Amino acid sequence: MAMSQEVEGPGLDAPLDEGAAVAPAAALYRALGEPTRLLIVQHLFSGEHRVRELTEHLGLAQSTVSAHLACLRDCGLVTSRVHGRASMFSLVDPERLVSLFAVTEGLLEATGSAAALCTHLGPQERARLEDER
Ligand SMILES: [Zn+2]
Repeated sequence: MAMSQEVEGPGLDAPLDEGAAVAPAAALYRALGEPTRLLIVQHLFSGEHRVRELTEHLGLAQSTVSAHLACLRDCGLVTSRVHGRASMFSLVDPERLVSLFAVTEGLLEATGSAAALCTHLGPQERARLEDER
């Protein structure tokens, strides 16, 4: 047993790429940060759905649902399987998503839902921040 083996990895004086460190989480939040995608994810808690079913249950255009499902699948949040002539979509990890949404509700309570009123998150600010990237 190597009890005194040194821990591998960057030392304290190694440059920390903070942008790279938060990028995966930022991408995940971006996937969930679009209202229609959030709606689709929440609806999939009720079980597996075909695109056509999601289209009907959510009152959205099929092209809209398909595009968001493709995003969610690329992000690893949603998976699909072929069933007959259709694809069935479901959540990859509903338990963790339930936990995430529970924590989110707690945060919304704690912040007095300030995020909903925050002008920094408005469409104009968002467009400006997108331009800066
Ligand atoms: Zn449904």
